[in-house]
Amino acid sequence: MSITGQCHCGKVHFQIEGDLPDQLTRCTCSFCSKRGVLLAYFHPDQFHSTVADGSDSIYRWNTEMVAHHFCSTCGCATFSDSPAFELDGSWDKVTRRIGVNARLFDDFDAATAPVTVIDGKNLW
Ligand SMILES: [Zn+2]
Repeated sequence: MSITGQCHCGKVHFQIEGDLPDQLTRCTCSFCSKRGVLLAYFHPDQFHSTVADGSDSIYRWNTEMVAHHFCSTCGCATFSDSPAFELDGSWDKVTRRIGVNARLFDDFDAATAPVTVIDGKNLW
């Protein structure tokens, strides 16, 4: 199966080779709680994006280890390239993952999907 999605203006498209995860993830950190995304995590090899007119921008904060991508034309959060943190915040220093904003998936209502909450407020 493959999953497709795009930002509001359509300048950032993506395709994911794989199935929807059983759970989406909502993070409680100061950034994610303001931004409101529901994330679906994938291995970097599964994720492919295409960007028109240089509309891919990146925001980093705190440790700057996570690249939070967003569309610089319409402002939608698109995906985050991050260390594959465990639920306790630890990391093997190698493995990365892509957290894609499931609200952008085509033909999918992220608001009705099962959600796991990660305690980012206390982890980072
Ligand atoms: Zn856009």
